[in-house]
Amino acid sequence: MNVLMVGAGFSSAVIGRELAEAGHAVTIVEQRDHIAGNCHTERDPDTGVMVHVYGPHIFHTDDREVWEYVQRFSTFKPYENRVKSTVGGSVYSLPINLHTINQFFGKTLRPEEARAFIEAQAATHIDDPQTFEEQGLRFVGPELYQAFFHGYTTKQWGCHPSALPASILKRLPVRFNYNDNYFFHRFQGMPEHGYTALVEGILDHPGIRVHLETPFEAAMARDYDHVFYSGPLDGYFDYSEGRLGYRTLDFERFTHHGDYQGCAVMNYGDESVPYTRITEHKHFSPWEQHDGSVCYKEYSRACGPDDIPYYPIRLVDEKAMLARYVEKAESTAGVTFVGRLGTYRYLDMDVTIREALDVARGFLEHRRDGEPVPAFFKAPL
Ligand SMILES: Cc1cc2nc3c(=O)[nH]c(=O)nc-3n(C[C@H](O)[C@H](O)[C@H](O)COP(=O)(O)OP(=O)(O)OC[C@H]3O[C@@H](n4cnc5c(N)ncnc54)[C@H](O)[C@@H]3O)c2cc1C
Repeated sequence: MNVLMVGAGFSSAVIGRELAEAGHAVTIVEQRDHIAGNCHTERDPDTGVMVHVYGPHIFHTDDREVWEYVQRFSTFKPYENRVKSTVGGSVYSLPINLHTINQFFGKTLRPEEARAFIEAQAATHIDDPQTFEEQGLRFVGPELYQAFFHGYTTKQWGCHPSALPASILKRLPVRFNYNDNYFFHRFQGMPEHGYTALVEGILDHPGIRVHLETPFEAAMARDYDHVFYSGPLDGYFDYSEGRLGYRTLDFERFTHHGDYQGCAVMNYGDESVPYTRITEHKHFSPWEQHDGSVCYKEYSRACGPDDIPYYPIRLVDEKAMLARYVEKAESTAGVTFVGRLGTYRYLDMDVTIREALDVARGFLEHRRDGEPVPAFFKAPL
């Protein structure tokens, strides 16, 4: 088969590799001038620092097959994400842990004491939290909620936390010990030569051709047996039902001689600080030595037509619009929508790779059995 893949991020790279290894011819078109999608990394020519161009990316997973898969294409260096937060003139460690609690309240509580102390603060009268704000108040009480969640979330999502679903906060843990590793997953690390080199390794197969600076056009599909589309779902249909809502990010880059903040990610919880966090990229490669430093101040805002879509909003209105796009997609033959943009979901890299492996296998099975290939292997709704 001749297969066309739209986009050269992890989704297309992994599906393309699986199909190429199964003996099919894969063509990838990518509108940007580089591969790896939003995970793209490049060395800053002046300092030599490996920069995460579209924001910080840390690889973490519990999926052993995915962990072994990525290591076929890159050496991974140990890396654990330890995030700090500046709020009210002090620096704390995140996610909220025993150190954060003791420091914030000026106490020396042991785990069980801290648990009881936080439970006494929590708004236990909220039985079934519906909104982000209710969930925060229910979980950690008003003071920690205000310091660590309210301002950051308001800046990140551009709306009051009472307008956001509780499910967003359900993902943020509180720990009653001193473990400040941001992620729980068994396998964590950083590709030694960056994510772009990793994706380059995945794409390095004689059955795969990549065309950069080549936006997809509907007419291209005629020359192929099937299309995998990892671009925006609404964009495929020329935004006929409207634009699915996203948040975009602006990165204000600055350089520094030496070490600017002593860690990779510093959040800013105060609403009066307009940015959400500062990333200092050289700390993502602690095995390297660089005198200079490259930092990004990160600002979040509503995504306009010419901006890069980052975080899908997925509130009630967006879901209604999404349902209309899903219906259109399901009545379109010959194309499968994949990845974070094609299915309008936030996906970590490991989930993206897991789904891409499953899509490739599902596709090959459907073709072998002579069944029509679905528009989605993973339903967006
Ligand atoms: C700020 C931020 C931080 C993140 N941090 C982490 C993290 O720490 N850990 C983690 O596991 N995950 C993280 N992620 C998630 C990670 O970025 C995604 O899992 C990953 O990018 C998904 O890959 P993809 O191939 O589906 O999409 P993308 O990487 O977006 O690739 C899609 C590609 O399609 C191209 N394209 C779109 N439309 C067209 C078109 N019409 N024609 C041609 N090409 C087109 C785009 O240019 C892009 O290159 C983060 C995401 C964001 C937004």
